[in-house]
Amino acid sequence: MNRRRNLKNNAELPSRRSPQRTCAGCRKVLDQDLLVRYVLSPEQQVLVDYRHKLPGRGIYTCIHLACLQAAIKQGRFIRGLRADALRPEAEALWKMLARQIEERVLSLIGMARKSGQSSSGLRQIKAEAARERLPALMVLALDLSPGTREKLQQFAARNEIPCYIAFNKAVLGQVLGKAERGAVAIGAGPLATAIIEELERFKSISGES
Ligand SMILES: [Zn+2]
Repeated sequence: MNRRRNLKNNAELPSRRSPQRTCAGCRKVLDQDLLVRYVLSPEQQVLVDYRHKLPGRGIYTCIHLACLQAAIKQGRFIRGLRADALRPEAEALWKMLARQIEERVLSLIGMARKSGQSSSGLRQIKAEAARERLPALMVLALDLSPGTREKLQQFAARNEIPCYIAFNKAVLGQVLGKAERGAVAIGAGPLATAIIEELERFKSISGES
């Protein structure tokens, strides 16, 4: 009965009924949400369109470097984007994709902050935990001091909380509307689920390149 309201609340999250598209590399047909889109810029550059928002003709691949490499090798970009002599560089596109996934994670963390689902800093995270409000995930800054990082990682492991290391303190602080922040915890909910999904995706594509 709450379907409409839920859909509205989740407007920024991937929709469950996504159109099907074919991967230009392996030719598998998948939900559009599970594929990366590529478009041609007005300057005839191939751009990654991770969030499927850019106008124009697009082609798709799975989120696997091998599929992108195969698509380039088979000339799918030339045919699919109707551009002459177009052979983009897989590694450069993969870096562009990684940046867009990072931006997406930051924007989701920002949304969690605005809806009061985030807490940050060692003290606040522990205070929430003491009130039995364990977070659904934690993100620790890359430049967090090793001692504090270890403490938080142990805390996460003890409580079976997924824990990721990403971004630096300045970037986390900025998205949380504060000065530098070494750690952020996100409470359970669709935003936390989406952030975990994106961070797992980021981890898997980073391992590929
Ligand atoms: Zn594929």
